[in-house]
Amino acid sequence: MNKALPGREITAEVAIVGAGLVGGTLAAALARFGVKTVVIDRLEPAATIAADFDGRASAVALSGQRFLSAIGIWPHLATQNEPIREIRVSDGSSPFFLHYDHAEVGDAPLGFMAENRHLRAAIAAELRAQDAPPLVLAPAAVTAMSQTADAVTLTLADGRAVRASLVVSAEGRDAKLRTLAGIGVTGWTYPQVAIVATIGHARPHDGIAHEHFLPAGPFAILPLPDEKNVHRSSLVWTERAELAAGYLALSDDAFLGEIQERVGGFLGDLSLIGPRFSHPLGLQFAAQYSKGRLVLAGDAAHGIHPIAGQGLNLGLRDVAALTEIIVDAKQLGLDLAHPEGMARYQRWRRSDNLIMAGVTDVLNRLFSNDVTPLRMARDVGLGIVNKLPPVKKLLMRHAMGTVGDLPRLMRGESLT
Ligand SMILES: Cc1cc2nc3c(=O)[nH]c(=O)nc-3n(C[C@H](O)[C@H](O)[C@H](O)COP(=O)(O)OP(=O)(O)OC[C@H]3O[C@@H](n4cnc5c(N)ncnc54)[C@H](O)[C@@H]3O)c2cc1C
Repeated sequence: MNKALPGREITAEVAIVGAGLVGGTLAAALARFGVKTVVIDRLEPAATIAADFDGRASAVALSGQRFLSAIGIWPHLATQNEPIREIRVSDGSSPFFLHYDHAEVGDAPLGFMAENRHLRAAIAAELRAQDAPPLVLAPAAVTAMSQTADAVTLTLADGRAVRASLVVSAEGRDAKLRTLAGIGVTGWTYPQVAIVATIGHARPHDGIAHEHFLPAGPFAILPLPDEKNVHRSSLVWTERAELAAGYLALSDDAFLGEIQERVGGFLGDLSLIGPRFSHPLGLQFAAQYSKGRLVLAGDAAHGIHPIAGQGLNLGLRDVAALTEIIVDAKQLGLDLAHPEGMARYQRWRRSDNLIMAGVTDVLNRLFSNDVTPLRMARDVGLGIVNKLPPVKKLLMRHAMGTVGDLPRLMRGESLT
């Protein structure tokens, strides 16, 4: 089973399994620093860019955008991103609210919205633009993984084998390599589903992101760039799991009516753009981030609630940290999977990710209900934080991803 067919072994310094937003970004970053990489995905790349594959848009924090700029991906999104200038958080019909304005902490926006299909296309464009682009094997399936003292070998279903110093699993929540390596996962599902849709609206959004807490969970209205002269926003409507299928099955008119009721009138007349999507929600956390020559990154290591729009941002920080550790090891002539480097990655990224997983879990439990004492406590909390500039500024800097032990490429420093 582990034996490659003769003459069908591919060698690389790093093999990345999973070419989603996290694996793709890592491939582009490593290619930029001359690390020979092979990328394997089970899906046909063109299928993942189609409009009906992933209708989500991601809020990319300022630090993530700086990293994507440093590795050449962001310039491909020049006309396909929308700066987030303000965030307004409100709770049901409560008069208390929290308002973040980027101008309170500087000139830069709080973050940027970009549609996932455009992010994937930008990654693909940057990979194509490299002098020595990574070899992409897709669609391809890994059937086995074996490690020796100096290499790790992946066997593919078609009989090829990939031999590398380090394998990165960026396979998302159901990571097969994590299971093959015997790394356990802790977690739970939320009784919620995220319904995702894109809307057009008569009035401009002015770069303001809205997070409106309803008893079933957060309802987010996120600014997108205009397209064909239509103002657009991306919606993430968190709904009780048992009701979501009913909403998703409504006619377009009835579905839009439900959205109009939740959005209110401030954007004027609304229209639906493109299909609706749904995502079951859950939290999961890997027991360890590395084992021998395997490391986990992105959702393969941590899957969190989208309440704060931070899942991809954590994944980008994993990628920036891993790139730094791999490139430093290469420059020093060390084994790319040297134990100190792997241990550093785990220490560095696991604590940061664990804190964010905890914060999103608590926020979701605190806000996704209509229990009167909790509602009163959180509304008073929102009102107090809104009137405390130092606390508010700190929370804004967290949302921008500019605090903490950031990798060099997120701090505007070079790796070479
Ligand atoms: C509704 C919603 C809204 C969100 N909004 C935001 C946001 O605004 N900001 C933010 O930061 N985050 C957000 N997130 C989180 C973010 O979308 C995820 O954290 C991110 O997409 C994870 O990317 P990934 O590459 O790690 O995993 P995935 O996107 O799951 O990609 C995994 C890739 O690996 C491939 N693969 C899987 N298994 C194998 C295998 N065995 N062999 C080969 N290939 C394999 C898959 O085909 C896929 O291409 C949101 C999440 C949801 C659900």
